Amino acid sequence: MAIETDVLVVGGGATGAGVARDLALRGIDVTLVERDGLTSGTSGRSHGLLHSGARYAEADRVGAEECITENRILKDIAGACIRDTGGLFVQLAEDDPDYFEAKRAACEDIGIPVETLDSDAAQERVPDLAAEVERAFEVPDAVIYPSRLVAANAADAREHGADIHPHAPVEDVLVADGQVTGVRVGGAVGDTIEADYVVNATGAWAGRFAAMAGLDVEMQPTRGVMVSVEYDDLGPVLNRCRDPDDGDIVVPHEREAVLGTTSVPVRDPDEYETEQWEIEESIEECAAMLPPVADAPEVRTWWGIRPLYAPDEDERGGRGISRGFFLLDHADDGVDNMASIVGGKLTTYRQMAEATADLVCDGLGVDADCRTADRRLPGVDDPERLDALVAEFDGQGPTDEDVVGSV
Ligand SMILES: Cc1cc2nc3c(=O)[nH]c(=O)nc-3n(C[C@H](O)[C@H](O)[C@H](O)COP(=O)(O)OP(=O)(O)OC[C@H]3O[C@@H](n4cnc5c(N)ncnc54)[C@H](O)[C@@H]3O)c2cc1C
Repeated sequence: MAIETDVLVVGGGATGAGVARDLALRGIDVTLVERDGLTSGTSGRSHGLLHSGARYAEADRVGAEECITENRILKDIAGACIRDTGGLFVQLAEDDPDYFEAKRAACEDIGIPVETLDSDAAQERVPDLAAEVERAFEVPDAVIYPSRLVAANAADAREHGADIHPHAPVEDVLVADGQVTGVRVGGAVGDTIEADYVVNATGAWAGRFAAMAGLDVEMQPTRGVMVSVEYDDLGPVLNRCRDPDDGDIVVPHEREAVLGTTSVPVRDPDEYETEQWEIEESIEECAAMLPPVADAPEVRTWWGIRPLYAPDEDERGGRGISRGFFLLDHADDGVDNMASIVGGKLTTYRQMAEATADLVCDGLGVDADCRTADRRLPGVDDPERLDALVAEFDGQGPTDEDVVGSV
């Protein structure tokens, strides 16, 4: 006998866990399957910056607006999944002053709060800043601990009736008469799941999963490296105020600073080369803002794969910066009960989930509003409980390995 559910969500990163939570809160019967532990994909291997939107402000107004909206929501609902540090955009002597002005003006226009600091004030905020700092402006960036965030979303989904299955890879998708009729799941499930609707939230692997259903979702995965070094109490996130490039963000943890990142296209999100120059360049470029990191002991290095949607990347000339997200309704491709959600950012996972759940509800004829924006996630006032959830879902990724379990 197959397992029956209203909606099968495939992928246990932030997006999939967010979709499961959203649908469960709307009263829908949901099953989520993840091939490995939760957060084992890109979500647990990201830089962990809760964007204020300032990074995108002058080039992508919509993306920046999404970020500031979600930044405020997550600070309200996600408690100890977030560390509210603030962030600086730092102009060094060699950086274009017009770029600084344009970004600051765009932030003000969008409603991202900014406060300009001269070089003395910036140095006071971060005493180790490079002497070449001309000026900076402060924005409401923060730090995300993705393992906790994904576990809290999955736990809320479960508290509202969802079944969450880590270590349950999808192995085949059965399609007949324009419908997904069954999904064969191995590992911990070892059965066929029959769902009224299937959501592909497999990120960089979305093309592979779609192909099992005979669908074409063209992804352009790109890799990036993060290097974590010993560094106590940095304070705010540091962003280099220049056109996005390698090594222009430093994310503060309590006793580490996470330097990154790079953007190199890969063919296979599971098997890809990694290069020493990416590590060296990330350290060198971040050290231009914060010189002591050049000699700080390296603690950890990890790589993540961006789930970029190829048609969007082609249009933007392959800069490797995920901007908006893409919700693909495969009814347009002849499969009526399946959608793929790709691109986007960790910061905007909740909004991606809301858009997906709206589409699913339309498809199922369910009339129920999204409730995820104003309801606190479970456990977020109790880091120990959050960390127990991370362990229960086997959801520890490298991004916040130094933080989770340390309380
Ligand atoms: C280097 C780097 C730095 C980044 N930094 C930031 C940042 O600082 N801030 C920010 O907002 N965003 C950042 N991002 C982007 C962000 O991390 C991603 O957009 C986001 O985490 C994607 O989440 P997701 O749930 O869509 O995908 P994922 O987290 O990858 O989840 C997809 C899941 O699907 C699973 N899966 C795949 N195939 C199957 C199958 N057949 N059966 C079952 N499960 C399957 C995978 O194992 C995976 O866990 C960064 C990305 C990279 C690469």
